[in-house]
Amino acid sequence: MQTKVLKINSADIDNICIKEAAKLIQKGELVAFPTETVYGLGADALRPEAANKIYAAKGRPSDNPLIVHIARFEELVSIAKEVPKQAKLLADAFWPGPLTMIVWKNEKVPYETTGGMETVAVRMPNHPVALHLIEESGCLIAAPSANTSGKPSPTEAAHVALDMDGRIPMILDGGPVGIGIESTIIDLTERVPMILRPGYITREMLEEVLGEEVCIDPGIIAADSERKPKAPGMKYKHYAPKADLILVEGQTDVVVEAINRLVSEKQAAGQKVGIIATDETMERYNSDCTMSIGARSDEDAIARHLYKILREFDDLDIEVIYSESFATPRIGQAIMNRLLKAAGHQVLTV
Ligand code: AMP
Ligand code: MG
Repeated sequence: MQTKVLKINSADIDNICIKEAAKLIQKGELVAFPTETVYGLGADALRPEAANKIYAAKGRPSDNPLIVHIARFEELVSIAKEVPKQAKLLADAFWPGPLTMIVWKNEKVPYETTGGMETVAVRMPNHPVALHLIEESGCLIAAPSANTSGKPSPTEAAHVALDMDGRIPMILDGGPVGIGIESTIIDLTERVPMILRPGYITREMLEEVLGEEVCIDPGIIAADSERKPKAPGMKYKHYAPKADLILVEGQTDVVVEAINRLVSEKQAAGQKVGIIATDETMERYNSDCTMSIGARSDEDAIARHLYKILREFDDLDIEVIYSESFATPRIGQAIMNRLLKAAGHQVLTV
């Protein structure tokens, strides 16, 4: 299959491109498109054969459910068995935006889309290309991240092309995404609302809008927890770079010194080593393969660059990566959740 890449300007949407993409969705085909979080791989969410194509293209395990993307709140109402009162409050505050809500599904939603579950994940993305595509197709669009299963999520169209070329008919290239890590997932089917995946929207932001306590799935916090994460996708080794990734935690000067020493040792043993640094520390490392993730003071930039850096190290055939730790104040939990998974929870405290 030939993959057509259509460039599309988010500030001035070309309706001919959107129409062409929407026709493919209506025919049950796959289209990759930008959202504000990462690129999604979309198909008609209410058709089992269409949803199945997503799993096949990504090599995704079929028990890992898809997020259904909508453009209007009523579309949530149309696929939910009941709409919890919290859903309206959260939608008013955060939609369109990087928040996915889990609700009980009704019979319209096929089990292919929900990975066999009785609940469905729903989000209204804050990206004009995504919203236009949903509206024009007249479909609800199931869309997981548009990467091959196990690879870092794509934050630009070129990443999608690397993973999906020849496997899908179309990629809409709307340029690099704004946020760079996947949506926060909140489960509204429990007695207490529960975060199943941390993201740009934090627990504090959710609690403020809901006026009630929000808990965090214990299964996602500890690496060796006895409890399985409730979101099936969180149990897989995700976001894995080819290299062995080790996080080094501690006071900055000590971290820089420790990483430099470890790099020298590995290099002496003939290994290709990379470093994930920040603008502030970049010059202090002596590896020829040091990349800055951005300024430590700019957490949004750190989130935005994370997956791109992991992919760049893959391309360079680096064998070991040492990374500084980024437990920044607001979205640090979301960043560290991704990075810890990529590192298989290898953390060195110095
Ligand atoms: P992705 O679209 O690649 O960001 O992955 C979607 C994430 O949402 C995965 O971790 C899924 O396991 C999770 N998810 C989707 N639907 C549900 C659901 N009904 N219940 C719990 N987790 C879900
Ligand atoms: Mg994904």
